[in-house]
Amino acid sequence: MLLFKRVQDIQQYLNVLRQKGVEIGFAPTMGALHSGHTVLITRSKTENQVTVCSIFVNPTQFNDPSDLEKYPRTVEHDIERLVEAGCEILFLPSVAEIYPKGMQQNLPIQFGRLDKVLEGVFRPGHFNGMAQVVYRLLEIVNPNRLYMGQKDFQQLTIVRSLLSQMRSGTELVMCETKREKDGLAMSSRNVRLDAAARAAAPKIHQILTEALDMTEEYSPNEIQRRTMQKLKEIKGFDVEYFEIVDGHTLMPLRLLGETDFAVAVTAVWVGGVRLIDNLILKQIMEQDVSAETGESYRQIP
Ligand code: AMP
Repeated sequence: MLLFKRVQDIQQYLNVLRQKGVEIGFAPTMGALHSGHTVLITRSKTENQVTVCSIFVNPTQFNDPSDLEKYPRTVEHDIERLVEAGCEILFLPSVAEIYPKGMQQNLPIQFGRLDKVLEGVFRPGHFNGMAQVVYRLLEIVNPNRLYMGQKDFQQLTIVRSLLSQMRSGTELVMCETKREKDGLAMSSRNVRLDAAARAAAPKIHQILTEALDMTEEYSPNEIQRRTMQKLKEIKGFDVEYFEIVDGHTLMPLRLLGETDFAVAVTAVWVGGVRLIDNLILKQIMEQDVSAETGESYRQIP
């Protein structure tokens, strides 16, 4: 695996590959890599000749400074994992490389309501920071395909909008959420769960699955009411939201029949750690839309 720390160096290297017609897959991460991240690398390797992974703990997407400080940093271990997964290139830039002095900080892009709802209510500024770094990384890596996890569903939806507004030729590939055996979605934050919180946390997925089972019988409103109640009953859970939304617009659904893509999304504090998860309730599997907007969106089963 090649390791690049400087923008200029990785750009130069990738330009040569691109000129030779090599297809490039890209998985941006914040490190503390686990098997969920490896899914992105493995998928990219099956679809591209070269896979780039970036590790950059982006300060502009943390609305809580102590969260940034506490974010796990395990670079040596991450490198081992990437080598094992067969990743060809690691981009490990400093903050100064990503945000050089004098660089235009504000994106010429608006996300409408996509970044105001759900996570946006509880983490002001988070998605602006996320979009800013993804925009910059795309500018640097300019991949054929971008691999992101369904785990961060709102992030992925915003990036889809970003690519569309940039009229980018990069294809977004959504990879399914990798879970522990007991159903807990893998996350870099899970290491912060104490024993009691770790034991309770899989209930999130369990309750989401029960919500899926209710779709034959109940309206989204009723599922939401029942699910909120269940989540609130779990000792140690502090629920921020549970909603059933349209997977394209993130707007709450009144009827599942209103859309071809319905997703249940939730955020729960478990023993002082904020966990997010989601489950697709309804989806038309493959959608390659609008040559006009350049938008392309695929679910990887
Ligand atoms: P992060 O390092 O947490 O910013 O995540 C980097 C990428 O990995 C994002 O696209 C995430 O959605 C994805 N990811 C994180 N956890 C998982 C998981 N459990 N399964 C699949 N993808 C994941």
